Amino acid sequence: MSSKNQPVNGFFGKFGGAYVPEILYKCVTDLQESYLNILEDETFKSEYHNLLRDYVGRPSPLYHARRMSEKYGCRLFLKREDLNHTGAHKINNTVGQILMAKRMGKTRIIAETGAGQHGVATATVCALMNMKCEIFMGKTDVERQHTNVERMKMLGATVHPVTTGNMTLSDACSEAIRDWCCHPKDTFYIVGSTMGPHPYPDIVARMQSIISEELKWQLEEKTGRNYPDYLVACVGGGSNAAGTIYNYVDDERVKIYLAEAGGSGVNTNRTAATMHCGTEGIIHGARTLVMQTEDGQIEEAFTISAGLDYPGIGPMHAQLAQEGRTHVLAINDDEAIYAGYELTRLEGIIPAIESAHAIAALSKICFKPSDIVVLTVSGRGDKDVQTYLDNKEMAKEYGGF
Ligand SMILES: *Cc1c(COP(=O)(O)O)cnc(C)c1O
Repeated sequence: MSSKNQPVNGFFGKFGGAYVPEILYKCVTDLQESYLNILEDETFKSEYHNLLRDYVGRPSPLYHARRMSEKYGCRLFLKREDLNHTGAHKINNTVGQILMAKRMGKTRIIAETGAGQHGVATATVCALMNMKCEIFMGKTDVERQHTNVERMKMLGATVHPVTTGNMTLSDACSEAIRDWCCHPKDTFYIVGSTMGPHPYPDIVARMQSIISEELKWQLEEKTGRNYPDYLVACVGGGSNAAGTIYNYVDDERVKIYLAEAGGSGVNTNRTAATMHCGTEGIIHGARTLVMQTEDGQIEEAFTISAGLDYPGIGPMHAQLAQEGRTHVLAINDDEAIYAGYELTRLEGIIPAIESAHAIAALSKICFKPSDIVVLTVSGRGDKDVQTYLDNKEMAKEYGGF
């Protein structure tokens, strides 16, 4: 039987596929035919793992959070992706994809970005590998994520503000695909999450699977067994969650809880909770759950967290949620802000607001004291300090200073 983490002919159940314009057929089929060979090549593997160790700073620590464990009545371990170079899990993927691009003889890199985290991670590896780098970013995001825009420029990237649609992440993705159509020969598109046409969801999940690969030996070392009772992660497009669950998805002893962004609430029209509110449709080259109007227009996503602000979800997650393998919770803005302050005050770790959604999920799960819980802190909160301060009334107990 095949593993739940592997697509069959590009599909996870009925989700996935590669719905791309004809001009990209060759690019996408070249990639489909070569990606597994590249990933399994010994030279590729050693280059990738050396960079993860010496450049990214892996393995990322698995930290026993004692005060949070006491609070939630379990044994809570934090997987510290926030300690990676550039501050989040995204670099695991960009390091791998740029090596792939080089292998395929591409000389120009494009990427989409929302909050700018994937843009920074892409610009970083392009500087490292001396590749031309073009980043597409909605004009609204360019304005509200100024520091990341300056980081990308400092790293040598060209940032293209996108002025179509709502001028946010979804529009940046569409624009990146459009650019790819114009430069199919020399350009490699580094996709930032487990989304897009097959094989991207599989490529990104494999690049991030290092997270759960490390968890196996780290848990063995710290607890005497190599699996947890619970895994908890936040989901935007689904890449840090995919990496966290990748090597456990067929292990029924492990319960999986994923936190998507509820925004103001799933019963309002200000939400990004795609697995609660979405319906089947096609977005950016894949069939998945999409927030859309009855006549198929993509609806804008709303959340305080720019990194979770996407009206689609990776096809693997759509399938796992629909078959009940994962439990998906919608976490609202105020709950995430509160949880971010809580981790800051109890453990001295300021999490990204995306990661704070995962932390907020802890209060909605009923644990036994012996339960081993692993929660992935996908990124650090330096980029979010202003948002935390602007919303401190949502966390009076900790933020009312
Ligand atoms: C981009 C981002 C996310 C959301 O992306 P996924 O692909 O769902 O992991 C979550 N956390 C941080 C810190 C991010 O930068």
